[in-house]
Amino acid sequence: MFWKNWDNLSRETILARQGAQLHHYLKDQVLKYSPFYRELFEREGLTANDIRTVDDLRKIPFTSKADIAPTAEAPGNPRRLVLQPDPETYASTISPGKKLSLLKNKLLHGREIRDQVLDEYLPNFYISTTGRTANPTAFVYSNHDLVLLKEAARRLFDITGMRRDKDFLVNAFPYAPHLAFWIVYHAGHETGTPMFHTGGGRVLGTEKIITMVDKLRATVIVGIPGYIYHMTRTAAERGADFSNVRLVLLGAERVTKGYKRKLRELLMSMGAKDPEILSTYGFTEARVAWLECLVEDTIENTSGYHLYPDLHIFEIVNPDTGEPVGDGESGEIVITNLGWRGSVVLRYRTGDYANGGIVWDPCPDCGRSIPRLSTNLTRLSDQSRLNLGKIKGTLVDFNEFFPIMHDQPEILEWQIEISKRNDDPHDMDVINAHLCVKDGVDLDDLTHRLQDIIKSRMELFIGQYYFHSLEEINKLLGIEDRTKELRIKDKRKELESLED
Ligand SMILES: [Zn+2]
Repeated sequence: MFWKNWDNLSRETILARQGAQLHHYLKDQVLKYSPFYRELFEREGLTANDIRTVDDLRKIPFTSKADIAPTAEAPGNPRRLVLQPDPETYASTISPGKKLSLLKNKLLHGREIRDQVLDEYLPNFYISTTGRTANPTAFVYSNHDLVLLKEAARRLFDITGMRRDKDFLVNAFPYAPHLAFWIVYHAGHETGTPMFHTGGGRVLGTEKIITMVDKLRATVIVGIPGYIYHMTRTAAERGADFSNVRLVLLGAERVTKGYKRKLRELLMSMGAKDPEILSTYGFTEARVAWLECLVEDTIENTSGYHLYPDLHIFEIVNPDTGEPVGDGESGEIVITNLGWRGSVVLRYRTGDYANGGIVWDPCPDCGRSIPRLSTNLTRLSDQSRLNLGKIKGTLVDFNEFFPIMHDQPEILEWQIEISKRNDDPHDMDVINAHLCVKDGVDLDDLTHRLQDIIKSRMELFIGQYYFHSLEEINKLLGIEDRTKELRIKDKRKELESLED
C-alpha cells in the first residue's frame, strides 16, 4: 500500500517503482473503475500499456479544476472521479491474483470478501475544497485511503521531531470538512501525541484557545497563519504565558519570512525561547499535506516540503507550454495520485507555481532521500487582469502583497481591496489598502514608503489608504468567522450587482 522505506531510496529506484506502480494502478483500478478517466483514455486512444514509466505520464492530458468542479450543467462532476466498481460485475473484473488475495485474507484474518471490497472502495470520509476559484468540490476517501491518510499524517509529525512524552499540541485549525483539521487529528492518533482540538476560533473562541495554550502549557500550536497571528497577538495583549511554545505548524495558506519573524517576536514577548515555525503545503486533490523539516533556524532557512514518493507523482511544468521543466526550475505543480481509491486525479494542474521547483538531492538537514518541493509558492489564480489607467488588462500578482505587508513591522493587519474608481462600476479598476498599524506610527511616512515599495516591486499605485482599529479590520478580514481570512477582497462584482 505504501513503502516502508519511503525516505531512503535512490532516485532511480523511486522512479522505477513509481513507473511500474502507475502502470498497474491504471490497468487494475483507474481505467476499470473511474468513469472520468476511462472516457478520457478512450477519447485519446490511450491504454494502460502506453504508460509504463514516469516519463510516459506526459502522454496523458492534464486535468484541471474546470474538469472536476461541479457546475450548474454538470453537478455530478466530482463523482465521476471516484473509483466505483459495479457490485454486479466486480468479480469478473479482477485478476486471479486479486481473487487469491481476497480469499487469503478471508481464510487468514476472517475478513469477509464483501467487507474487503467495501473497505477498498466505499466512500466513508469526505473533504471539500474551499471553493475560492470554482464551486466547492468534494473529495472522498475509502477505508483504504484512510490508511494512507494516517500514514501521511504520521510522517508529517515524524518530520517535526515531536515527542509524545514531551509535547502537548493545541490544534487551532477550524473544524470543517477541510484537509488541515483532519491531518492533525489523524497525526495525533497515529503518533499518540497528546493534543487538544479547539475546532478553531469560531467553535471555541479565541479567549478560550489562549487559555488552553497557557494553562495546558502547550509546546506546539497548529493553525492557519492569519488566525494564529491574530490569536497570538491577542494573547500578547492579555499578557498570557506562552513560554512553553517551541514549535508552530502552519497550514492552508502561504507563509512569508516577514510573517515568521513577526510571529516569533510575538511568541518571544510571551516567554517562548526561539520557537521554530514550520509551514505545510497540502490541498484537497492530493488528500495529504507535506512539511518542511526542522532546519537550523526555521525562520530564515528552509529545506523544502518533503514529498512522499509512494503516494503521488509530482511534475513541475511550464504553465504556458505544459512542458515539464528540469530539476530546481520553476513552474506549475502537477500531481498524480498513486495507489489511492476514492476520488482520483491524474496530472492535476494545481494552479500553484513553485519558484525553484523540485530538487532530488538528499535533504542536507534530515538526510531523507526524497524529492523536495520549494516552499516559495504562489497561486496562479491570485493573478488578475485589471484595467488600471490607460493600459487595459494589466496582469497583477496579488501574492506579492504578502511579503510586502509582512515585512513592515508597523503594520498589524491588512487587507487589499480591488474596487472601481469613485465606486462607479463602469470606471477603471483601483486598488485600495485597509491597514491597522501600531500606535504612534507616522501615517504619511508609512504610506509614502509603501507607495514606493509597491511601485518598484509591482508597478502599482494604491488609490486610497484606509486606517482601522484592530477590531474593525478583523471584522473586514472575517478573522473570527471565516475559515480563511479575506486578505484580497474583490469589490467589483458587488458594485456591478448594485447596478442591477
Ligand atoms: Zn529534511
